[in-house]
Amino acid sequence: MQIDVGATLPLEAIAADAGAVDAEGRFPREAIDQLTRAGLLGLGLPESLGGAGGGPVEFVGVVEQVAGACASTGMVYVMHVVGAQTVLAGVGNQGAAGPKQEALEAMAAGRHLTTLAYSDRGSRGHFWAQVSHAVEDGEGLVVDADKTWATSAGHANSYVLAVGAPNTDDPLSTELYLVPSDQEGVAIPAHFDGLGMRGNASAPLRVRGLRLSAQQRLGDERSGFALMMTATLPWFTLGSAACSVGIAAAALDAAIAHATRARLDHEEASLAQVPGVRARLAYARVRLRESRALLREVAAAVASDDPSAQEGVLAVKASAAEMAIEVTDLAMRVGGGAAYSKHGPLERHLRDARAAAVMAPTTELLHDFLGKAITGQELF
Ligand SMILES: Cc1cc2nc3c(=O)[nH]c(=O)nc-3n(C[C@H](O)[C@H](O)[C@H](O)COP(=O)(O)OP(=O)(O)OC[C@H]3O[C@@H](n4cnc5c(N)ncnc54)[C@H](O)[C@@H]3O)c2cc1C
Repeated sequence: MQIDVGATLPLEAIAADAGAVDAEGRFPREAIDQLTRAGLLGLGLPESLGGAGGGPVEFVGVVEQVAGACASTGMVYVMHVVGAQTVLAGVGNQGAAGPKQEALEAMAAGRHLTTLAYSDRGSRGHFWAQVSHAVEDGEGLVVDADKTWATSAGHANSYVLAVGAPNTDDPLSTELYLVPSDQEGVAIPAHFDGLGMRGNASAPLRVRGLRLSAQQRLGDERSGFALMMTATLPWFTLGSAACSVGIAAAALDAAIAHATRARLDHEEASLAQVPGVRARLAYARVRLRESRALLREVAAAVASDDPSAQEGVLAVKASAAEMAIEVTDLAMRVGGGAAYSKHGPLERHLRDARAAAVMAPTTELLHDFLGKAITGQELF
């Protein structure tokens, strides 16, 4: 199904609140409610579950625009859709009833926000490796874990929680569980006060004595790593890249508007008529268009299960993250002193753009994986 992205996006209202969300470090609840009313929390979920349909191509189209309006909202939305896709893949053909199916239907109806809790204190940004392992204590599975970041912590209805599988200390032997955010054993010991994405509420989760049932597990025993690679990774790298493209596009639009408006009265010219300024804008536009083209190419490849998609999945997030850092920096330079002040959006875009490079898999790790892939080496 093709959802009509242009007709449903409530961008003006989301953009109008973006400055306050950033300044106050406030979770963008109203923007998420707007996306809910537009049916977008169910994007990527099949109509049989009540979802909006659509796939990777529609996803990147929505995220680019939402993140351009408010990067924090874009990030919360990305983690929700990626979490929902991971749950969907984990439910597979396990049967139609049960808490995971109910959660998916609630996500499709916009009554349930989810997110990922993968990053483990012991393995840091190597999210695929888990240091904390579930143990059998005679009454079932129980786990203690310290998750360093979970977007929407305290605001999501559930966490897709990664833990090491029981009865092994192999860090790659992992399992994913859908954990209701109010389940006993999950606490949020600290709140987020970040450089950028200041409304995305990424906070640590302190997991102590959390009881996990087989009904909560996504996929089979020890299937966490495979789910991360096949469901989480492609949707996350696309979503993160789309956020970067959206932020860069918003920054470049603001820089172009400034350069066109700002006057050098003594030369009877606008700033945009200065050759060095317009060349900077042109270079930034080329970088943006390159990344957007790659984003669309990779989204289409993932949507069609193209065998060449893996290389694009490894390339797209790093490419867009570094582009957004470069383009927001160029936009700041063109904006001069006006951009340096907090009155305009440019310095916010500059701060927001830096998050993607450090979100796992980081740019450095993606380059390392891609290098291995193209030289025929095993990734793990
Ligand atoms: C805004 C935001 C939202 C987030 N949301 C979530 C979320 O919802 N869920 C979640 O699970 N996590 C989330 N994270 C966490 C994120 O995915 C990373 O785990 C985290 O940012 C990594 O930080 P770290 O300090 O542990 O980095 P480290 O892993 O300590 O990395 C530090 C540096 O070392 C480099 N490095 C590490 N290993 C290698 C290597 N092998 N080769 C080359 N360089 C290497 C990295 O590239 C990086 O530059 C979020 C992070 C941010 C910033």
